[in-house]
Amino acid sequence: MTMKSNAGDEFFATMGLRPIINAASHASRLGGTRLAQPVVDAMVAASQTFVPIAEMQARASELIAEFTGAEAGCVASGADACLTLAAAACMTGDSRAAMDQLPDTTGLPNEIVVHRAHRMAFDHALRLAGARLVEFGYLTTSSGVGAYRWQMEAAFSEKTAASFYVGLKSDSALDFKTFAEISHSRGIPVIVDAAPTQVPPENFRRWIELGADLVACAGGKFIGGPAATGFLAGRRDLVRAAALQQQDAFIHPAVYTEPFGGDEGASEPPHQGIGRVLKVGREELAGLMAALRLCASRDYAEERRQRIAISERLSQAINARRFPGVTVQSDDLANSITIVFEDARHAAQTVRELQEGAPRVFVLNARIGLGEILVLPHCVSAAEIAALEARLLASIEVATAAR
Ligand SMILES: *Cc1c(COP(=O)(O)O)cnc(C)c1O
Repeated sequence: MTMKSNAGDEFFATMGLRPIINAASHASRLGGTRLAQPVVDAMVAASQTFVPIAEMQARASELIAEFTGAEAGCVASGADACLTLAAAACMTGDSRAAMDQLPDTTGLPNEIVVHRAHRMAFDHALRLAGARLVEFGYLTTSSGVGAYRWQMEAAFSEKTAASFYVGLKSDSALDFKTFAEISHSRGIPVIVDAAPTQVPPENFRRWIELGADLVACAGGKFIGGPAATGFLAGRRDLVRAAALQQQDAFIHPAVYTEPFGGDEGASEPPHQGIGRVLKVGREELAGLMAALRLCASRDYAEERRQRIAISERLSQAINARRFPGVTVQSDDLANSITIVFEDARHAAQTVRELQEGAPRVFVLNARIGLGEILVLPHCVSAAEIAALEARLLASIEVATAAR
């Protein structure tokens, strides 16, 4: 099975690298998402002309504000990077001295209140800035309610800098509106990890409408921007505090202007802050700006129809083969399919076959321990569908024939 060659295949071949079919959706480890042509064009065009980064960030802020309904926004190297910036902003405010001190938080409010059910590997980004997470609630209870308001209220102290909410459904978390109200009643800003939030843009606006002060979004997932982008949207003062710690600060005070409508009297810039390691170049900025703009005119219903068509085709092809101990489930919400193996070992064997054959295929492997493989069509191109189908059938066949 040979794939139709394209510029990407040729480039990777010259570097001695073998392309894959990405049937695992927008995974960072596989390179993010497939960029639409206007996004690629914007990156290439920007690479040949210079505009000061601060001016690009200011324009990106306007586009992010339009997209999310927030007052302002800034761009960093991913949603996780934006969480580091958000934590830093909530701990330092506009204080240059506090910015210069991070990640040492001595004397600063440094606690972030979070549901125990919302702890996850990505929250290392908050701790990177020096913050300490203060958990409340239980993961599960027989009453079906894992977190009460009084538990959240008891988690605050005079050292609380922010509260943190993850945009994934959980039965063990307060609803977001209640969470935000409790935090605001104490004057504490709310940070949201909205990285998994999906287009259309209304879904992003909802966070701001319901009271988020800072929302971290991934540029390289459903928004369709470069993998190394994310944006922080929210209150202007907090976005400024974040941006101040990310900007390149090698600028003489005689010609310095504070970004994001800062205090006119602030004539001295900060030094390089903790977010300086999270920088983006103008190519990433241009790509994300083009992707945000494209979001206004995308046909989301048609994109969904195309994903479902791919999933249906794969599902029918697998079912038609009647592999022993193999069933296929469709998840209409995710537009994906789950291949369920009666013998859980066959799931891992199938994934290994998929990753080793030609062309190599990567699927979501998070549930192979349960005997399940998830095939997500989001990043699969029309030219790849036939190869994906053939590789799935061949790999399941080899895995299920093994004893
Ligand atoms: C993807 C994801 C992130 C990280 O986003 P990046 O843009 O890759 O940094 C963080 N949190 C959650 C819940 C995610 O799904």
